[in-house]
Amino acid sequence: MSRRRDRYDFVIVGGGSAGCALANRLSADPGTSVLVLEAGHSDWRIDPFVHMPAALPFPIGSRLYDWRYETEPEPEMHGRRVYHARGKVLGGSSSINGMIFQRGNPLDYERWAGDKGLEQWDYRHCLPYFKRMETLMVDGRRAADRWRGGSGPLVLERGPATNPLFGAFFEAAQQAGYPLTDDVNGYRQEGFARFDRNVHRGRRLSAARAYLHPVLDRPNLRVETLALATRVTFEGTRATGVDYLRAGRSQRHVGAGEVVLCGGAINTPQLMQLSGIGDPAHLQPLGVEVVHDLPGVGENLQDHLEVYIQYASQLPVSIAPGLTWPKRPGIAANWLFRRQGLGATNHFEGGGFARSNDDVDWPNLMFHFLPVAIRYDGSAPTQGHGYQVHIGPMYADTRGWVRIHDTDPRHKPRMLFNYLTTPNDRREWVEAVRVAREILNQPAFAPFNGGELSPGPGVESDEEILDWVRKDAETALHPSCTAKMGVDDMSVTDPDSMRVHGVEGLRVVDASVFPYVTNGNIYAPVMMVAEKAADLILGNTPLAPDDTPYYRHRDDSPLFPPGDPRNGEPAPARVAAAFAPSIHPREHPHAARQDDLQPDAHSATGEDTP
Ligand SMILES: Cc1cc2nc3c(=O)[nH]c(=O)nc-3n(C[C@H](O)[C@H](O)[C@H](O)COP(=O)(O)OP(=O)(O)OC[C@H]3O[C@@H](n4cnc5c(N)ncnc54)[C@H](O)[C@@H]3O)c2cc1C
Repeated sequence: MSRRRDRYDFVIVGGGSAGCALANRLSADPGTSVLVLEAGHSDWRIDPFVHMPAALPFPIGSRLYDWRYETEPEPEMHGRRVYHARGKVLGGSSSINGMIFQRGNPLDYERWAGDKGLEQWDYRHCLPYFKRMETLMVDGRRAADRWRGGSGPLVLERGPATNPLFGAFFEAAQQAGYPLTDDVNGYRQEGFARFDRNVHRGRRLSAARAYLHPVLDRPNLRVETLALATRVTFEGTRATGVDYLRAGRSQRHVGAGEVVLCGGAINTPQLMQLSGIGDPAHLQPLGVEVVHDLPGVGENLQDHLEVYIQYASQLPVSIAPGLTWPKRPGIAANWLFRRQGLGATNHFEGGGFARSNDDVDWPNLMFHFLPVAIRYDGSAPTQGHGYQVHIGPMYADTRGWVRIHDTDPRHKPRMLFNYLTTPNDRREWVEAVRVAREILNQPAFAPFNGGELSPGPGVESDEEILDWVRKDAETALHPSCTAKMGVDDMSVTDPDSMRVHGVEGLRVVDASVFPYVTNGNIYAPVMMVAEKAADLILGNTPLAPDDTPYYRHRDDSPLFPPGDPRNGEPAPARVAAAFAPSIHPREHPHAARQDDLQPDAHSATGEDTP
């Protein structure tokens, strides 16, 4: 790694997901000097809590890895503060996240492009960057196609999902009227499938491991860990550098041709506000000298909330026994020496996307299935066997904020998401729980179903469901959109250059710049943004737009890519049976759309059963 200088062409604040990708791309030209300031420690190769996929619950809540945020009391969550983990280590949240890789629906990007100024962020402009960043592996083989990449730094491995409970889940989804799909990141997101994960050869492949470590020997790239950026310095409205606190003690300053903020959707608006960029009505009473009046900084906060619907299993097939303390040394040894076994998986090996009502244009619900009943923090409702789905609405219309409350950069900012505060959000929550239960109560689960553990039979009416959600829901950990791209008065970031409006020498590249949260986990979209932003910052010719088709149910698109022979196959009896009154005793929004599902012959015969 290069020696420390007084000034760099680019100072990247935050060596997290986007920061690592940018560090790689910006330092590719040996004539460009790049410094990464990361508040957390290094992701040492020997650290099993970062690198062992199944160890993912351990860093959460630890001050050694996690910023440990919590919300203000949420008004519609019984005044509860919701805990928010955020990675504080090289690789950022990608070093502690669940490793689930979801691009979001192509129509998410059409929605982005519907905002003035974001025309170049539609799906056809984003797809080439999704492909550039990834190498997809399915069952040990490279699996690039028209939708997927085959030579990018992020190696993705598709979950094996071989536990019989996954088989029951995929079967049950079809019985409830929801099709399978070949690839939720490919032609059709809608449907159920095995999931791609940032796991390679049994290890987590974080953004740091994929993008940063391979280029750390570049003489023009330097990374400083334990370096908390405390302020962006300005001359007038031009950013000149960054003040930072090294190892909690020594104050340092570094000069910058450009400062790129990659601190994530909570810390980036915090640092902007500390540096005098934000709403003067908020900053001046705190004694912050205003550099530029930009009221959108910290506003427009979005997220996904989720619950776990947990069942006991009558058959002893879940992975619960493998997670007991006596079994852990064996699992750890198997992982350490062979990179195999229960330690080598994130367990999120499959799930799916569905529409809970016909008002929505693309799936508004996401399901993660786990062959065990356990919460993120490791607590379990049963000592025996179980299984669960994580479920929640994917584009809630609630909006929140992140705001500093004093000028000490070591203090956490305040934040409020306003979960469940809109009628539409509440409606979708009730639908989400009902759809999940409908799937979990299909005949495919009959041999396993030992009864619902959570929320349990006492939670039936809409009000009971909402009350349970208020008490039980957790964040899916996707805060975003607090420095949104756009050109309206509440926008913060210019979509064509990632520059912060109204100042020079300052850009933002992380989850803050999303205008709207996408309909799945957001790591993949963050990385796509970083890849595209690198070209915008460097002035490279952007990758040519890609017109590869994708599924839109409103347009009566075929269920499989145009030309796929499966589109012509008749619906098998089993899919038709899924709509029989005995299985669908009450009306379901999808029952009216059998025509959508009829051609799903191939999936339903099991030929592409994940
Ligand atoms: C526990 C957890 C599980 C998740 N699971 C998934 C999942 O399975 N799939 C998925 O797609 N998404 C998941 N997410 C979300 C996803 O990982 C994040 O949204 C994404 O990685 C955010 O990327 P980012 O670049 O915006 O920020 P981060 O990756 O969080 O990077 C920000 C970096 O900036 C550093 N930083 C912040 N402030 C400063 C400062 N002042 N000075 C210096 N450095 C600073 C931080 O320490 C951090 O390293 C999860 C998140 C968490 C926390």
